[in-house]
Amino acid sequence: MLATAEALGILLAAARRVDGVESIDTLDALGRVLAADVVSPLDVPPMHTSSMDGYAVRSAELAQASTARPVALAVSQRVPAGHVAAPLATGTAARVFTGATVPPGADAIVMQEMASVSDDGRVAFEAAPAAGEWITRQGADIKKGSVILPAGTRLTPQALGLAASVGCARLDVVRRTRVAVFFTGDELTMPGEPLKDGAIYNSNRFTLRALLAKLDCDVTDLGIVPDRLDATRDTLRQAAREHDLILTCGGVSVGEEDHVKPAVEAEGRISMWQIAMKPGKPLAFGAVRRGSEREGEGGAEEAFFIGLPGNPVSSFCTFLLFVRPFILRLAGVEAVAPRVYSMRADFTQKKGDRRNEFLRARVNDASGLDVFENQSSAVLTSTVWGDGLIDNPPNHAISAGEIVRFVPFSELMR
Ligand code: AMP
Ligand code: MG
Repeated sequence: MLATAEALGILLAAARRVDGVESIDTLDALGRVLAADVVSPLDVPPMHTSSMDGYAVRSAELAQASTARPVALAVSQRVPAGHVAAPLATGTAARVFTGATVPPGADAIVMQEMASVSDDGRVAFEAAPAAGEWITRQGADIKKGSVILPAGTRLTPQALGLAASVGCARLDVVRRTRVAVFFTGDELTMPGEPLKDGAIYNSNRFTLRALLAKLDCDVTDLGIVPDRLDATRDTLRQAAREHDLILTCGGVSVGEEDHVKPAVEAEGRISMWQIAMKPGKPLAFGAVRRGSEREGEGGAEEAFFIGLPGNPVSSFCTFLLFVRPFILRLAGVEAVAPRVYSMRADFTQKKGDRRNEFLRARVNDASGLDVFENQSSAVLTSTVWGDGLIDNPPNHAISAGEIVRFVPFSELMR
């Protein structure tokens, strides 16, 4: 069995960015991945601006100002934001507002609270401002010609704002990854249908579809496939045709009713199987050949395949730890590792497992970690109760007070 880090390395080394770039409206680009660097065509802000409501002055003209001897200046112009400023006449101040262009010649803003307007319309100052005070200099945020967002960036709300701040109305993004997903198991029933003897609800369909939606994939859900080799092979062939990745759930162990592995071996290849982790041991990775109609079109000849175990906690955890980074890499994202936190365990686990365990844990009020009492891979409740996973190395017992590696779900679902 492979160690988790080794297995992830194999998966990521095989991932190649899907081809296809779309130009889309920046307003529609949330969650998409940039196909090219965004270079700023201008300075931001494009001119020196005032960051206060107040008066633009030449600071040297106020050098002698004091409470006992205020310096009074005439107000020579008024500059609201969005309006042009004339050069500042010597011996005068300009009335300015937040976001206004600083008149050429002025080198500081005095905020209005620090100035007093007299009846004759002059404005008096009791202290000299430092040169540059309350001025946001041209290009302070962004310099013209600089890369503000590199290719491979996943577009967050703040990244969209940054792109818009340099005037980008459209962005070049990588096309969405096409994922086919299906679920194996004669026991599976869809919610809304009556539950027969021996049956269970297909909860994984809901979890996995939602996880795929968060990654902004184009998903084809092929539904529930019976536990038969021919049906599994047929569905794999169908799935390979139009998709980058085939994701399956269940049937990937070695039981007589587990047909996914032999079906993939018949329709393609398995390059990795079984990882020394708990939950989630029987994860499989490989590829399925595409039908001949696709060959010659220049498309890749295989669709990637990842087979997830059927146990609900296992499929959830293996998706987060393996499928998510793999899908992000297909979209061209470089930084796929979640942020891991060092946190205190407020519990004791006497015996370590031979495999790398991922324990469902929750942050308590004392900023330590508690674990869910039932860590069975069938107990989905633990994933709702928890805030994330403790990544516990093989054969490692945990004593209370010890610092452990904690990966929050928020990091794994970004
Ligand atoms: P398998 O990986 O097919 O051996 O399934 C392992 C366990 O997970 C069995 O108890 C299955 O009934 C259960 N299981 C498999 N697929 C699903 C699913 N889609 N939703 C909920 N439970 C499942
Ligand atoms: Mg099964």
